[in-house]
Amino acid sequence: MNLLPFGVLPAHTPRRFVPATINLGNWVEIAPLFDALEQKLTSGQSVAELESALLDWSELSAAIDEEGSKRYIAMTCHTDSPEAEKAYLHFVEHVEPEIKPRQFKLEQLYMAHPARPQLPKQRYEVFDRDMRQHLELFRPENVPLETEEAKLGQQYQKLSGSLTVQFRGEEKTLVQMGRYLEEPDRALRQEAWELVSKRRLAERDKFDEIFDEQIKLREQIAKNAGFKNYRDYAFKARGRFDYGPDDCFAFHNAIEKEIMPLLRQLQARRREQLKLDKLRPWDLSVDPLNRPALKPFETTDVMVARTQTIFEKLDPMLAGGFQTMQTQRLLDLENRKGKAPGGYQSTLAESRLPFIFMNAVGLQRDVETMLHEAGHAFHALATREEPLYGYRNAPIEFCEVASMSMELLGNEFLEEFYSSNDANRARRTHLEGIVGIFPWIATVDAFQHWIYTHPGHTRAERQQAWLDLMNRFGGEVDWSGYEDARANLWHRQLHIFLHPFYYVEYGIAQLGALQVWFNSKRDKPQALQAYHRALALGGSRPLPDLFSSAGCRFAFDEQTVKPLAGLISSELDKLK
Ligand SMILES: [Zn+2]
Repeated sequence: MNLLPFGVLPAHTPRRFVPATINLGNWVEIAPLFDALEQKLTSGQSVAELESALLDWSELSAAIDEEGSKRYIAMTCHTDSPEAEKAYLHFVEHVEPEIKPRQFKLEQLYMAHPARPQLPKQRYEVFDRDMRQHLELFRPENVPLETEEAKLGQQYQKLSGSLTVQFRGEEKTLVQMGRYLEEPDRALRQEAWELVSKRRLAERDKFDEIFDEQIKLREQIAKNAGFKNYRDYAFKARGRFDYGPDDCFAFHNAIEKEIMPLLRQLQARRREQLKLDKLRPWDLSVDPLNRPALKPFETTDVMVARTQTIFEKLDPMLAGGFQTMQTQRLLDLENRKGKAPGGYQSTLAESRLPFIFMNAVGLQRDVETMLHEAGHAFHALATREEPLYGYRNAPIEFCEVASMSMELLGNEFLEEFYSSNDANRARRTHLEGIVGIFPWIATVDAFQHWIYTHPGHTRAERQQAWLDLMNRFGGEVDWSGYEDARANLWHRQLHIFLHPFYYVEYGIAQLGALQVWFNSKRDKPQALQAYHRALALGGSRPLPDLFSSAGCRFAFDEQTVKPLAGLISSELDKLK
């Protein structure tokens, strides 16, 4: 039974190393290929032999990667199929863990290879840098600590996911409660918000206990790897070669200085439109003019056709890429029973083709997701001709430039979906969302800098550090009577528990996307040309090069943020 939405996809490049008939879900069949690669990296002495081994290694990595992606796609498209679930779990439990130590061994052999110093420097600069970093950070004694850390992360997810409230006689999850914050009836919004807030507060000690344990483990992991604090370790482990803590501090300051005044203006406008004396935490998601939700389309086919038209108006290459995805059935977009929630873009690494999954129900959010994931898909298509597997993926800070730029560029043509009034309403909501998320990113990032550079802090000190940041980045929302909820708000942010320090990336990428958009206002063909050029580099160059190819500064300071805040502000003025 084929559970994939698409048919058999041809490999981009014919296989020369991996056997055509291999079962890539069976470790016993894969292991000899790793043996052969080790052999090649040990016996070959010349540059040509080394480069040939790297291509074989790339081919194998891509083939295994595609196998995992297909199993994941089949499972998320058919959550009701035990067969699909079993196949995916088998891969995660029995193939992936075997691969890790074998990859590590290959990396060691590569770094020790006698011909490596003769490889072209610029071409292998990023590749070598990544390998060296893996080898430098690896400590066998950290493996069990990382397993412990992952278990604590699961506890956090289990606790968060298990919380429910009784609302008007029905049990509801906290996620389900989110939609009541969009209700025009203010008393109802307050009731829903208070219920959720109280429910979380009842577990505050448990959240803090999990986090205390995580901090202890993380500090030990950093110490074992020879770092003086976990922050410095995490920067290395996340491959942040091209920016450091000082750049993040510059980002926090720039947001405070350039974005906060804009956020305060928007909050004041919202307060006036809602005719309130003060904006309370439950007044932030409702439409300030109490209008019904926008309805951009009835069926997914219509959404796809209109999105296709947007890309045709933007750029022929994008239009061609999106057309290919339709022809090859690389889209599974409509919400239906038996589909996992959410949306994602996944790259089939061997055929070098993108796939987009989402759950469209006819809301503006779906149009945004479509444009966003299409940006990721264009990135995958742009890197097809790159022979090295590792270079076909860019760092996350730039991947999100590809997707967030597409939201901004595509939004210029929202009249495909709406009257001009409604299109402007959607644009305003999008831009206000960008203004709102920057201070939250700065808060979450600055908080973690504080946490991991203050070893041995007490819970009270931690709470104070959070409150200081809320004062700095919270804007004019009145929390009186809910001081405890405000002081523990960070318990909601999954990244702090599960992916420490992983969040500022979205801020960095949004700055890039806004610059692409800014450039497109002056010269659209040139901005799009730069966009294509930068995407085609994949991960083959360091971040500053990727940004400059896209026509962007790679800096997160006031000098970068100020003109972008100005652009958002003048665009918002046009949308009144
Ligand atoms: Zn994304």
